[in-house]
Amino acid sequence: MLDLLRVNAEKAASVLSESEHAVAFTGAGISVESGIPPFRGEEGLWSRYDPKILELNYFSAHPEDSWKVIKEIFYDFFGKAKPNIAHITLAEMEKSGFLKAVITQNIDSLHQKAGSRKVIEFHGTSEKTVCMRCKRKYDIGSISLDNLPPVCIACGGVLKPDFIFFGEGIPHDAFEESIKETELADVFLLTGSTGLVQPAASLPFKAKQNGAFIIEINPERTVFTEGITDIFIQGKASESFSLLSDFLFDEG
Ligand code: NAD
Repeated sequence: MLDLLRVNAEKAASVLSESEHAVAFTGAGISVESGIPPFRGEEGLWSRYDPKILELNYFSAHPEDSWKVIKEIFYDFFGKAKPNIAHITLAEMEKSGFLKAVITQNIDSLHQKAGSRKVIEFHGTSEKTVCMRCKRKYDIGSISLDNLPPVCIACGGVLKPDFIFFGEGIPHDAFEESIKETELADVFLLTGSTGLVQPAASLPFKAKQNGAFIIEINPERTVFTEGITDIFIQGKASESFSLLSDFLFDEG
């Protein structure tokens, strides 16, 4: 198994080093080894919390209840997480010219904390909040979460984390930029996404239709593996990126 991982990582490194416009597409799996569980699965967040706290209608009607859980998951808990070798390798790949952009479904800012510059946050970010009434935005560090829900100092409206809830559309600029990068990509490097969340999951399919070579890293097979993946590195993000890093930087 380890040999196959090595062989596939070496092939992937060679494809990436010859690419002109490689783009990474990441999901919750890349942050699992930073201590942030995914939503789904046995250890997933939805096995412990009720997803209704992220439903827009529920949040609007019960902002205090939703915020109590949101604070616990996304601020007390996520806030302590640090980038792992997968985030760090992607940032190094960008610096060395092997990668042009990261499109992430994650809201944890770990790509930016690792040093990635071109990061498109397809589902928004937990680093900001937005007023539900006047749409003013606040950095999370500039507001207090001692009294919940936090409110807008300008108009008194309830602040909501600036990531999308169930029932909300994709932020316009992130959507447009993701499409642009997807169309430019000659290699798409997928990590840690089930491919079940739409419309995010349509991007790798669009890249493939456009002629991009698809590399996928995941311990489990996914809809991408079954449909479009050219090289499947079946492993955890940390071990896979550690090998990719060796081939790209030390031995290449
Ligand atoms: P998902 O929860 O549906 O699936 C996670 C995927 O990660 C699975 O395919 C799993 O096999 C894989 N995985 C598990 N451990 C891994 C590891 N160590 N290395 C690599 N892969 C691993 O995730 P999703 O498809 O990204 O969709 C869930 C949505 O929930 C996302 O759109 C995202 O917005 C949100 N979410 C974000 C975070 C975060 O910001 N870190 C965490 C949970 C959920």
